[in-house]
Amino acid sequence: MPKALVKRKAKPDRAIFVVSVDTELAWGSFDHGGLENYVGHYAQEREIIRKLLDLFGCYDISATWAVVGHLFLERCAREGPDSHNHVLQPEYSWYPQGWLSHDPFSNAESEPFFYAPDIVDAIVASRQTNEIASHTFTHAILGDPECAREVARSQLAECRVLAKQKGLDLFSVVFPRNSVGHLDVLCEEGFLCFRGVERNWYHGLGLSRRLNKLCHFIDRFLAICPPVYDEVDCYACESGSQWLVDLPASMFYVPFGGLWSLVNISARVRQARKGLSEAVRKKAVFHLWFHPVNLASSPLLLGGLEEIFFLVNDQIKQGNMTSMTMSQTASHITAGL
Ligand SMILES: [Zn+2]
Repeated sequence: MPKALVKRKAKPDRAIFVVSVDTELAWGSFDHGGLENYVGHYAQEREIIRKLLDLFGCYDISATWAVVGHLFLERCAREGPDSHNHVLQPEYSWYPQGWLSHDPFSNAESEPFFYAPDIVDAIVASRQTNEIASHTFTHAILGDPECAREVARSQLAECRVLAKQKGLDLFSVVFPRNSVGHLDVLCEEGFLCFRGVERNWYHGLGLSRRLNKLCHFIDRFLAICPPVYDEVDCYACESGSQWLVDLPASMFYVPFGGLWSLVNISARVRQARKGLSEAVRKKAVFHLWFHPVNLASSPLLLGGLEEIFFLVNDQIKQGNMTSMTMSQTASHITAGL
């Protein structure tokens, strides 16, 4: 049975820039027709990740990479020693094909969009502080009411096992589709923090999906100052000696395509600039996030990100802001609790 977690607030003592990068390749959108629509974008993802690692190094940015656990694998099989049948998969009535219906049960050389140990190795080898976080084993939507607690536990535990094999420990979770759920399981599995949903001006209004999308578009088009957090929610885990911290998103760096092409690159940078200034003013957390694959929609996007990182670096040099990974931020904020 899920246990109710006791919550309290904590305040950062400085402005903190957090960036999380949801790294999924084909796992992020196989249930949304991604294999038909985005193969060209997946093919660019490794090159984009290399450029991002360079940018983080160049501007002294500590990033959190939320990597789907299956990407750690060199290969997998339906049966035998390479099978992952011990990991529970979600069963959603809206996806009757089965969550592994697209798993090629092959290897990294033949199916590089489903296996990417090279990406994990590149992130780890980077000279900059980069944290690897869990994005579940197969991009399971943990907050879906049909996702059982034991599935959440099994998915997160497998990510931890795979990370350990590379000498890594996992402290942070990014929920696929930002679908927050099973926080008590995160506590039990020893995680320190997760990325919560963006608390923007239309959050909590109970809008329909369509109205929500419209507000999201208006927000980006007008480059409204994104939410920053001078106070965060911390959940007391069972032992009382550890906290699970909600580090909500401030701004999703939207791709181009469809209506988003009406939002020019300068509006994206302007919006981030407002968030950074507000974070400095309030000694708050500004949390930017995106998927590397989003950047494949236009070469302008990497340039825009570089402008944002330049602004962050400028604030760091002035002593106004610190760049931290998600887990560093969680540890820092809860140090005095
Ligand atoms: Zn597999």
